[in-house]
Amino acid sequence: MSKISAPKGTRDILPPETAAWQHAEKVFADVCSRYGYQEIRIPTFEQTELFQRGVGDTTDVVQKEMYTFDDKGGRSMTLRPEGTAGVVRSYLENGMASLPSPVRLFYNITAFRYEKMQKGRYREFHQFGCEVFGSEGPIVDAELVSLLDLYFRELGLKETSLRINSIGCPVCRAEYNQKLKDYLAPHLDALCETCQSRYDRNPLRIIDCKETSCKPIVREAPALLDNLCPECQTHFDGFCKHLEELEINYTIDKGIVRGLDYYTRTVFEFVSEHVGTQGTICGGGRYDGLVEQVGGQPTPGIGFALGVERLLMELEQQQAAMPGPARPSIYIAALGDAGDQARKWTWKLRSLGIRAETDLMGRSLKAQMKYAGKQSFRFSTVIGDDEITAGKIRLKDMNEHSESEVSFEQAEALLADHQKQQG
Ligand code: ATP
Ligand code: MG
Repeated sequence: MSKISAPKGTRDILPPETAAWQHAEKVFADVCSRYGYQEIRIPTFEQTELFQRGVGDTTDVVQKEMYTFDDKGGRSMTLRPEGTAGVVRSYLENGMASLPSPVRLFYNITAFRYEKMQKGRYREFHQFGCEVFGSEGPIVDAELVSLLDLYFRELGLKETSLRINSIGCPVCRAEYNQKLKDYLAPHLDALCETCQSRYDRNPLRIIDCKETSCKPIVREAPALLDNLCPECQTHFDGFCKHLEELEINYTIDKGIVRGLDYYTRTVFEFVSEHVGTQGTICGGGRYDGLVEQVGGQPTPGIGFALGVERLLMELEQQQAAMPGPARPSIYIAALGDAGDQARKWTWKLRSLGIRAETDLMGRSLKAQMKYAGKQSFRFSTVIGDDEITAGKIRLKDMNEHSESEVSFEQAEALLADHQKQQG
């Protein structure tokens, strides 16, 4: 039979790479919990309408990239292309709006987008994200950025730059949209087809277009940041001030409008200094209108999503030290028919928290020791009738090439101690 390969745009994450993933996940959950965030887990698919409303139907994601299908009951479903819409739906559906504010949630999800495959761009990918509900002031914006800054520092990620912008509120954006349209009107024919359709529905989206036909036109366009209403200007100034208080470096980039419709005021991105168009590791912003758009009471909110594949690619490129798989501690070889005794002790060691293995293949003693050598066990021992009778084993330290005779209890204490140091 012919072989079946993984679908285009998906990838297997294999050991030893999974150790780096586990580390990134663990540190993320840990940093989040220090900031008071609790984990939320949401479904992989939702009703299509949630994303149309929550992500916005003038976005690339909704217009071009969603995996949408009818289920057997004829309902339109979509594999989540991002996490925020699902989190907002869950926040409302589960009455989290009545919890004391702010409500802080974090997630670790797979997301699905039908995109052209490129380095750092997959059809199934992973995002870590945070969402905060109920706080309007710019302090929470700066706090959220500081969480990312701390996370990156703890992973050893350097050379990323934080870019920030404000895209105002519905009031100043409406005025700005008119200004933008006036500017774009004479260039309309030169814009890509998608942008032509955006001109009336959501001209701000044009600023985010990556088509070569649109880029030079966009470059000269008036910036929303120069056209904020006084309230939005004060909010943005406050955001900058709080970042400075926290000693977080940033660059103002008037070109960041973010790809999703729901953002208001603060938007930000962390961009790698080497990777090209796939250099955005993380994007986020404030979405004060989203909860209402999904059917709730007006509720301020802010969040980010971090592309885990891109984060790990960047860490690798920077040769950041990431832990490898845990090294197994001891291999227990069995001599003759002492297999059952060897297994028994192995299981005991495991219950004591020690990474221990014994033969499962019916191998000869020589073959067992060869296997142990290849798997880089730190210690090994051989159990036979003599060892059982004497209650003592010869514990071989494979690093030091030394041996010591110890009781089973002494070995247990020594191994537990060793493993504690290893983590
Ligand atoms: P891009 O401009 O690269 O298409 P985006 O604006 O569509 O990114 P967001 O929706 O903000 O991305 O998602 C947040 C993060 O998720 C991105 O910054 C990126 O790191 C990651 N990401 C987005 N799409 C993909 C993908 N197809 N494959 C891998 N990672 C992705
Ligand atoms: Mg995209």
